[in-house]
Amino acid sequence: MNMTAEKITEQVTVPMVLSRYGYSISPKKRIPCPLHSGKDPNFCYTDKVFHCWTCGAKGNVISLTMQLHGITFPQALIRLNTDFGLGLPAQKPTIRERQQLIENKRVLAAFRKWMTEKERLYGGLCVLHRELWRRITAEEADEETVLFQQELEEWLQENIGEVVQPWQI
Ligand SMILES: [Zn+2]
Repeated sequence: MNMTAEKITEQVTVPMVLSRYGYSISPKKRIPCPLHSGKDPNFCYTDKVFHCWTCGAKGNVISLTMQLHGITFPQALIRLNTDFGLGLPAQKPTIRERQQLIENKRVLAAFRKWMTEKERLYGGLCVLHRELWRRITAEEADEETVLFQQELEEWLQENIGEVVQPWQI
């Protein structure tokens, strides 16, 4: 069992969970089963564990919370931590998850920088393209300028709205 789960089972009892989620508890510690919606008091519990003699469900506060809400083990830990105001720290990420996070941030930062650079370059070439086009229409351009203008126009068309993949960085 992990640390958070251990602390939860130390601090939260089965009757606490039952009352918190709207089930009446009894001094005899036998109630109709909330899990199979039983009518007879066949659901027995102590502070730590429960057992239903009819449907066979059994476990501790965490498995009870999982079954009452139809949630997973990690979700039940979060829910109990929140609902009982335990203030336990969230599960620490593993070394691998931390490295992945750092790597993701690095790629994203490089990607943003590259996109900004690309937009600046694209903007600059658009200005150049306009100027070349002005010269051509004013018949101020030589043949070489016309060819360059055409090449530039193709490049601009190819690169407009292009999807940039992070691995191109
Ligand atoms: Zn039951």
